Amino acid sequence: MHSQNWIGGEWSTPTDGELIVNNPSNVKEQIGVIHLSGASEVLQAEQAARMAQPNWAGMSQAKRGDVLGRLASALESSLEELAILASREMGKPITEMKGEVMRGVNLLKYYAAEGVRANGSVIPASEAGVLQYTKRVPLGVVGIITPWNFPVAIPIWKIAPALLCGNTIVWKPAEYACLTATKMIQIFAQAGLPAGIINLVIGKGSKIGDVLLEQCNLNAISFTGSTSTGQRIASICARRNIKYQTEMGGKNAAVVLKDADLNLAIPAILSGAFRSAGQKCTATSRIIVEREIMPAFTAALQAAMETIVVAPALDSKAYLGPVASGYQYDSVMAYVTMAREQAQVLAECKAKVSEDEGYFITPLVVSGVSSDHPLVQEEIFGPVAVVLEADHYEHAVALCNATIFGLSASVFTKDLNQALRFLDDAEVGMVRVNQETAGVEYQAPFGGTKWSSSHTREQGQAALDFYSEIKTCAIKYN
Ligand code: NAD
Repeated sequence: MHSQNWIGGEWSTPTDGELIVNNPSNVKEQIGVIHLSGASEVLQAEQAARMAQPNWAGMSQAKRGDVLGRLASALESSLEELAILASREMGKPITEMKGEVMRGVNLLKYYAAEGVRANGSVIPASEAGVLQYTKRVPLGVVGIITPWNFPVAIPIWKIAPALLCGNTIVWKPAEYACLTATKMIQIFAQAGLPAGIINLVIGKGSKIGDVLLEQCNLNAISFTGSTSTGQRIASICARRNIKYQTEMGGKNAAVVLKDADLNLAIPAILSGAFRSAGQKCTATSRIIVEREIMPAFTAALQAAMETIVVAPALDSKAYLGPVASGYQYDSVMAYVTMAREQAQVLAECKAKVSEDEGYFITPLVVSGVSSDHPLVQEEIFGPVAVVLEADHYEHAVALCNATIFGLSASVFTKDLNQALRFLDDAEVGMVRVNQETAGVEYQAPFGGTKWSSSHTREQGQAALDFYSEIKTCAIKYN
């Protein structure tokens, strides 16, 4: 397969370079070629989005919702095909990938239904004979920059509410997810996606990112990716007074209190830490355990780690597949080496993984490092988790909060008091009791505090706040 740009309703192949895409489960298998854009394609995409915006915004909200409904049906019909391609492109196990595409379908259906919901409120005026009300108005052209780790769901959780609100889009997907992005737009185009409302530009962030941010007159940017890129984007947007949203990294903790049901906690912690090979912003990467139960916790963890299956992404038995790319592999393996040299291995998956064939990394849980160690403080974004021991509840909360990140956290306990206290005490955007740190539902607000986010929220109703502005209207009548 070859990637293509979709600009103003037409397919084109940019010529500013190429990248070969190999299957991370089997690096000898070539899956396709990515064709990279330069500045001119980005500027064309912005122009096409700008041209299409008045007509799109001029349609009724209900009609825009109908279009999203058609995209949902088309995506659902192509669920299997898109999931297989995405699994081959970035290595997420097929069962999870199908779930992700279905999440995309549900997001489209959710925002399609918003087409006929209220988009403002009537506010009593102090004077008689005045009707005062608010309505949401579109921002204009929105730039959407997405990562590779949720190649379908993240773009859709931005695209769907942005379109519903009457905006048009320039979308730059991550380099390691461009075939999936091309396929998804092909599916949408076949379902009658109006020309110019989504403009897909394939290219390297380091090369075309600045064109998008500095040379285009975008009205808003929604970004998901690393904290360093997010910081950079936020500072440019602040300087140019562009509305922005940056959803960034995490270093999420699962806290296991001494009364926790380990039969519930261990599977949830393994799922949070190792599904998607730990490449979720909400992945569990710190496990904070009350010291008293460390022996029981360690024994249960070691036994459970034995059952984990590491396999190629298209194998339906895969609990986790490879990491997404050679770059990811090198980056995570540097932490694995650090962990083996500077920490103690607490539990390790014994499954044989064939690292010669693909970017497979054996899941690893380590302990014995201090709370300021890089393994505890830096986002690893791979199947490596670190255990810290806590003396009591207050110590566990202090460890949980001792990070620059604030995306998600969970606590395992049977004590309602401790659970409710943790919901108050955890300095994160998403906090859960007796559930894994990953996996927040699409109809609920998603986002973090501290360096995980620009303090905005995505998904659910919260996304509509980002992709629109509120206009306050007043009419005097006799
Ligand atoms: P990344 O920051 O390297 O890239 C993200 C996107 O930004 C890509 O499309 C990339 O091409 C683009 N980009 C890179 N440099 C740019 C620049 N100078 N200007 C404009 N765009 C640029 O991140 P990644 O490796 O693709 O994704 C992994 C990161 O994403 C992790 O840190 C993870 O925690 C984070 N993430 C966060 C969330 C969340 O909702 N908080 C969700 C998923 C992933």
